[in-house]
Amino acid sequence: MLPFGYIFGLILFGHVDDVNVLLGGTKLWSIFVTCTMLIPLYTLQKIFTWSMNNWNKHPIVQNLMVYYNNNNNNNNSNNNLLWTMIASDINVEFRRIDKIIITTNSITSIIVTDNWIIKVLPYKIKVIHQSDAILIVNKSDTHEMSPVTRGEVQFINIEVKSTRRGSQPFDIRLNVFDFKNLQDKVSRPITVLQNIKFHKTLLDKFIDNFKEQVQENPYYEYTEELGQCIGCMQASSNVKLYKQCNNDRAIGNPEDCMVCYCRPMWCIDCMAKWFASRQDESAPETWLSSKCTCPVCRARFCILDVCLIQSI
Ligand SMILES: [Zn+2]
Ligand SMILES: [Zn+2]
Ligand SMILES: [Zn+2]
Repeated sequence: MLPFGYIFGLILFGHVDDVNVLLGGTKLWSIFVTCTMLIPLYTLQKIFTWSMNNWNKHPIVQNLMVYYNNNNNNNNSNNNLLWTMIASDINVEFRRIDKIIITTNSITSIIVTDNWIIKVLPYKIKVIHQSDAILIVNKSDTHEMSPVTRGEVQFINIEVKSTRRGSQPFDIRLNVFDFKNLQDKVSRPITVLQNIKFHKTLLDKFIDNFKEQVQENPYYEYTEELGQCIGCMQASSNVKLYKQCNNDRAIGNPEDCMVCYCRPMWCIDCMAKWFASRQDESAPETWLSSKCTCPVCRARFCILDVCLIQSI
């Protein structure tokens, strides 16, 4: 309507004396004027076509009709009501409080209800029923800086398709930390392609970083037999807190690391989880550089003091 409004304004406020000047001017100008008339007319015609038979031709309705189970029934009067039934089913589910809404960017959001996966775009709504949905994580990309997380941020791309004929597939691009949220709500398994690696939670990511860091520390030589980790009761214990960091400050500083005399009782995964649990949740970028206390004797330690055990 904007170009049309512009031309209309020109005439209304007397900037052109004669309407014929507009149409009889240069060729480019007359094409422009014609287009300003045609675009609103085309739009009106489109809306009119969509609205026929209770909006039966509207793209959203077409999308919904894919999910009407008896496709052989071509009775039009029936079809008119069918899509409203599907739409009201979606409405009912949308009103439930247990739906999840993931805002993937400022104009797109993903809504997952008990039975539907819905992608809402500025001009489109795409729906897929969960019962025949196929979800595949097919891409991941990592970005160094993000104003939100103040650190590394990773996005994954999930392709959502349906096995039904005529349904429209769509992509979901979301922050990896929303993945778990989505996975919990979707009843279908989400396939992750083999070459795609990502951390599902902040804790997963921290545990990997923690392990990488500990690998660089010297090994602790231990002669006695190692027992099971008392945290998970599954892995055998493989870390020892052995003070190695140098404290430059005066002796007796209450922030200094201390000597832990406990025997090895933890596996590295449990130690990483314990370490993370003692940190400030709102500032994950400080976790690795922070300190923690030994779960048993409460001696303070830092990441440099966590050593993998070498049995000799
Ligand atoms: Zn453990
Ligand atoms: Zn200790
Ligand atoms: Zn230390």
